[in-house]
Amino acid sequence: MKTANDLQTLLRRIDNKGYKAYKDIRGAYAFSFFTLYIDHVQGDPFAAPSKIRLRLSSAVHRLPPALFAHAHRRLGLEDFLAREIRKNIRRLARLQRGTGKSGLISIDAGGQEILPRTALKITDDFLEARLEIGLPARGRTILGREALAMFFEELPRIAEQSLQWEKVDQQAARRFAEYVENYYALQAQLSAKRLVAFVADRSVLPRESGVSPRPLSSEAAVPFRSPQELRVTLTLPHPLNGSSTISGMGIPEGITLIVGGGFHGKSTLLNALELGVYPHIPGDGREYVITRADAVKIRAEDGRRVEKVDIRPFINHLPGGKDAARFSTEDASGSTSQAANILEAMEAGSQLLLVDEDTSATNFMIRDARMQALVHKDSEPITPFIDRIREMYERFGTSTILVMGGSGDYFDVADTIIMMKEYLPYLVTEEAKAIAQTFKTERRFEREFDWQAITPRKPLRQSFDASRGKKEVKIEAKGLSTIQFGLQTIDLHAVEQLVDVSQTRAIGYALHYLARHLMDEGTTLSQLLNALENFLIRGGLEQLNPFRRGEEHPGNFALPRRFEIAAALNRYRKLHVNVSPS
Ligand code: ADP
Ligand code: MG
Repeated sequence: MKTANDLQTLLRRIDNKGYKAYKDIRGAYAFSFFTLYIDHVQGDPFAAPSKIRLRLSSAVHRLPPALFAHAHRRLGLEDFLAREIRKNIRRLARLQRGTGKSGLISIDAGGQEILPRTALKITDDFLEARLEIGLPARGRTILGREALAMFFEELPRIAEQSLQWEKVDQQAARRFAEYVENYYALQAQLSAKRLVAFVADRSVLPRESGVSPRPLSSEAAVPFRSPQELRVTLTLPHPLNGSSTISGMGIPEGITLIVGGGFHGKSTLLNALELGVYPHIPGDGREYVITRADAVKIRAEDGRRVEKVDIRPFINHLPGGKDAARFSTEDASGSTSQAANILEAMEAGSQLLLVDEDTSATNFMIRDARMQALVHKDSEPITPFIDRIREMYERFGTSTILVMGGSGDYFDVADTIIMMKEYLPYLVTEEAKAIAQTFKTERRFEREFDWQAITPRKPLRQSFDASRGKKEVKIEAKGLSTIQFGLQTIDLHAVEQLVDVSQTRAIGYALHYLARHLMDEGTTLSQLLNALENFLIRGGLEQLNPFRRGEEHPGNFALPRRFEIAAALNRYRKLHVNVSPS
């Protein structure tokens, strides 16, 4: 391995030369307390930044093994350290040192959610931070002295302040590690108590604004308070404010209705539950909003493509003799898209659907008595959600939490009815059931197709082509909600539980991996997702980058859930699947 001095000599030598001379600095260098790996050198100051790693041995970082021996605690600690680096970059780096990205130093640390990510990795032997830097130049002329300042002043200072136990905020580090363990321990307690979600008392659910994921200020927010009848107490492995239990609202399995007047906080509660599938950073306000890991938000999404989904449970005998058992369209309507979203979520294995009337198709949700009288069932292809929702739970074990301020017809099919009033929940099941007895809905239960199973689909590998021009693989996340996959664009704007652009990027590569290595004509989508999850959990997210050789910087990935991977696959407009005849 080369020494730090070698790098110094190199940088002095290439000072004032053309940018291409930077290629010579690739390699590994032993610094006093870390090893610097320069894995990728950008082609010019405007190109994607260079990729480096800083590795500290355990003898140097001296992080307590108790904080990383266990997977959940390690996740919390890794997440914390990546955020520390980001903080110290802002504090200690100049960031502007010439043309384009010259001087940039960055790390892919997370937002409000805590996700497994490739930016920072702790093993038994070492800790490694994966960064991106902009090698400095004026125009295309190397600014060697600026590079020296980055490598020999800024980076060592950042590493020292962020990655050495005696220098970091130890209390905060422990808080992250222990919190993540608490989160997963509570999530594991849900099923034994037959709950699908938990909202801790004193949680702060509302956000600062429609575009900010930060909590609403504590002066403006009404903290959550569980209704006594739904209050449950769960056990924490690490005490919180001196208590080893935590109380809050437990939402039972089955059909839960969230009712209440407009602006009383219904959607805010549902949004919190949607993101309750992820742990949140301390201070988020929703750290202890905990939802079953397989919860999927369902909404109408007109315009999306659908590939051979068996939507007969909801939509049958389509006009024009269109096949509802293998329903395909380039441009789904509100109701067909919502039906496809439900069946695809169940196909991927979800047993908890989250539905908001605000983003649902009315004709999919309800067909009332008067409409039933006017439009005969023979000329209505839709079996509304209300007539399947119980069957979904009873036959398939799929629970639903549904925000519904607009139709009391749902009182008949709900197990639990929660009313939001001035942002606080009340249990009103009995009252609503009594009303349902007094004001009988005159609507008839409508259902014709006998729903026995979710029809599995087998995605075909020939569907997937990630090449673009001369590049064999061109996959990019264009912001949170768009994947550029070869020549295709995958639109994920309606996939509301995607929270991090590095998840989006990982999904793009995951699709490519699925197609290259796992798809064959006999494997169902659900089996593919199992195999992919195993692959990612066993070997880590780092394996997704197809350009990886040896020990290089793995790229910036955060772990997506199987449901968001399936969502992207389902929205890929060239997807072809086989469906066994039924
Ligand atoms: P609904 O779906 O019942 O119509 P929303 O959930 O959209 O209502 O909430 C309406 C407004 O109230 C939003 O601006 C939201 O941020 C705010 N809000 C929701 N919950 C709270 C709360 N606990 N404290 C303060 N404001 C809240
Ligand atoms: Mg709403």
